[in-house]
Amino acid sequence: MDFPFTSEMIIELHDCAICPRNCHANRFSKKPGYCNTSASLSISSICVHRGEEPPISGADGICNIFFTGCNLQCIFCQNYQISNKRFSRAANERPLSVILDQITSILDKGINRVGFVSPSHCIPQMKLIIKGLHSIGYRPKMVFNTNAYDRVETIRSLEGIIDVYLPDFKYMEEKLAKDYSDAKDYPEVASSAIKEMYRQKGAALHLDEFGRAESGIIIRHLVLPGHIENSLKVLQHIATEISAKIHISLMSQYYPTPQVSCHPELNRTLTAAEYREVAGEMENLGMENGWIQELGSTSHYKPDFERINPFEES
Ligand code: SF4
Repeated sequence: MDFPFTSEMIIELHDCAICPRNCHANRFSKKPGYCNTSASLSISSICVHRGEEPPISGADGICNIFFTGCNLQCIFCQNYQISNKRFSRAANERPLSVILDQITSILDKGINRVGFVSPSHCIPQMKLIIKGLHSIGYRPKMVFNTNAYDRVETIRSLEGIIDVYLPDFKYMEEKLAKDYSDAKDYPEVASSAIKEMYRQKGAALHLDEFGRAESGIIIRHLVLPGHIENSLKVLQHIATEISAKIHISLMSQYYPTPQVSCHPELNRTLTAAEYREVAGEMENLGMENGWIQELGSTSHYKPDFERINPFEES
């Protein structure tokens, strides 16, 4: 290993219960657990991304760090090229010094935020990168872009480290969570994790003079075709159990990936009527803060992780 984990991180990775899967796997071994991700720093891309919500990307973009693997295995994942646990990770392992060089070369262009994408299974690795940046004098705003399948204790450990939480809230229906993400307990787990984020940050989203988020939470919800009831329940749950004032990013960008071929109900994009119904519920619930993505945005959000920047044509 050429990177300095603390003894606490080594203990966590030796007997891994970092996420709610609770595998108790040894991430230093050849059997690293459900996420199939070793203890190494396995990162598929470090790049500027301009397609996030306006306060996240700002005018210049955010430096996003895409970890490989994931603790959820959503069959419709748009990042399936890097998240699928069947793929080998070895080619993506990078030394910390290389990662820090890549990040700082982006930050030196004037970008002042770093986003960790799908970091739930790589919390010690994420903390190591943050610590490394601080040690060389960089203190960008840190954005935790998570699927929300996180343990409350893990989120608690991020207090004072993470500036902006950007969690998904995918399901309130356990059957969908089981069938599509292999995580029946997702509704309960995500709700508890987001409540802890809310305890830390409250509903307000604090912006700098350029309109970029400095601190707060934005909850993302991707509407799935044919599953409007689930979306309505997610919004109702947020409004009643967390806060109707919290910022919501309602997303229409679902498109069928090759992985959904055995789920014909998911093999299409959203209809205007479906999306209108969900957006209307936000209004009914008095959820006025946030963003409603335009329908027909699917083509803008198809990443290709074979490219140097997955979000830009080379
Ligand atoms: S992070 Fe990976 S190994 Fe650890 S508990 Fe979660 S799925 Fe299992």
